[in-house]
Amino acid sequence: MKFDRLETSNHIGGIPGVGDGPELEVVDPSTGRTVWTYRADTPEAVRAAVDAAAEAFPAWASATPAERSTVLHRLAAELETVAEDLAQAETAQAGKPIRLSRGFDVPGSIDNVWFFAGAARNLEGKAAGEYSAEHTSMIRREPIGVVGSVAPWNYPLQMAMWKILPAVAAGNTIVLKPAENTPLTTLMLAHACERAGVPAGVVNVVNGTGPVVGEALVTSPKIGMTSFTGSTAVGRHIAGLAAANGTRTHLELGGKAPFVVFDDADLDAAVRGAVAGALINTGQDCTAATRAYVHRDLFDDFVSGVAELMRSVRLGAPADPATDMGPLVSFRQRDRVAAMVDRAVSAGARAVTGGGAPGGELAAGAYYEPTLIVGADQRSEIVQEEVFGPVLAVLPFDTDDEAFRLADDVPFGLAASAWTRDVYRAQRAARSLSAGTVWINDHIPIISEMPHGGMKASGYGKDMSTYSFDEYTRIKHVMSDITGLAAKPWHSVVHQNA
Ligand code: NAD
Repeated sequence: MKFDRLETSNHIGGIPGVGDGPELEVVDPSTGRTVWTYRADTPEAVRAAVDAAAEAFPAWASATPAERSTVLHRLAAELETVAEDLAQAETAQAGKPIRLSRGFDVPGSIDNVWFFAGAARNLEGKAAGEYSAEHTSMIRREPIGVVGSVAPWNYPLQMAMWKILPAVAAGNTIVLKPAENTPLTTLMLAHACERAGVPAGVVNVVNGTGPVVGEALVTSPKIGMTSFTGSTAVGRHIAGLAAANGTRTHLELGGKAPFVVFDDADLDAAVRGAVAGALINTGQDCTAATRAYVHRDLFDDFVSGVAELMRSVRLGAPADPATDMGPLVSFRQRDRVAAMVDRAVSAGARAVTGGGAPGGELAAGAYYEPTLIVGADQRSEIVQEEVFGPVLAVLPFDTDDEAFRLADDVPFGLAASAWTRDVYRAQRAARSLSAGTVWINDHIPIISEMPHGGMKASGYGKDMSTYSFDEYTRIKHVMSDITGLAAKPWHSVVHQNA
């Protein structure tokens, strides 16, 4: 189904419905035009969705892994048939270049479904054993219950998948709230779940703003855990709300990835890697390369190489396959990025290229030029804070230790990369950099089999991979007496006649 034919704005208990709350708009950021309107949900709808998920939980939790796996295989096959519709919708609501939606967002999301369809059959506790002479112990790994998830706008479909898949593969049911400006592909996913035969109530979608619908979800006393992907500020707020109910949280938050180029690096590879790593999704990627630390010997060549390549990046209509980089997701986000760059320049930094919004036909959209900043201070906002736009700051260093120190000298710890031809140095970098992912001679690639998640202010817990099951399951120790004795040896510590 094409997104413009979508007539529902929520999915509760297997039934597509329409919210009773205020009307919200989905705006194409490349034109500023509204492409879809919908009624947001109310807290009552959130309660209904949580109830539906709670009702569906016992049967889904007790389904065999093979049964859950079969359903997820059907979902993956169903999504393959609507991949192009999903790509079009992702591009329309987020302003992503269609090449990115078709080549990264949608196939990556579907691959995740294939992966978790298989992983669902690989859930296990540790082997049983006799840790006392009188007992056999075993570990059961069990689903938690209803998961309440909140997702961001930067990769709407992928982020929905990252929340839904490990949860339901492990036997939980879920209520997910996408970002209010990008609900389309998550609703299309909910419809696909229905066509694939995902039992009613296992995957529920509600829509609306964070403070109203998101908070109603994460404060529900009936959810067993909250998984959140979004900004550090909102994540910490949600963790506080969850703490009031003692609800488990999994937080995937902001990033400020360093990109460290040593003096033995392949300069051409580093230049290309920096431009792709900084500009992917118009820089609205939590792992985007945002701070390049470049050995002083390579600094000038790196800066001129990156600037030249950035100038050749084609900005344009997201639906045009020739477009390299689209607009920011919204005018608000564009203005936020522009203000951060302006403040950096006022503080003494220099934009070698970019540093403003383009004119001409693109002026009607939320575009911002690829921007390369030099001369920024390590302590400055542009180096310390998440920009979430197509902006790369470059700073020089002289020694490896200095590079590692500067790379770690921010609050975040989501991702990092090191560029070197020295295998020993590469391993030192992998050990030294505090980040959930460290790439060597690359920056950005992810893969369903491997975990993604942060350290420090970037949050905790893992998405993707079987490591994510640690977030979405709880373990239970079962200890069985193997003596058959009524008077057990340990009773003597309680009464002497034992
Ligand atoms: P955001 O924090 O503003 O919003 C994320 C979600 O939270 C949205 O659905 C929003 O409606 C909801 N929300 C807002 N306030 C809420 C509240 N009080 N209670 C409940 N829900 C609330 O983030 P964003 O601007 O949509 O996304 C960008 C951020 O996401 C960036 O910081 C980025 O780094 C981060 N991100 C992180 C990862 C990761 O894996 N670590 C991945 C993608 C994006």
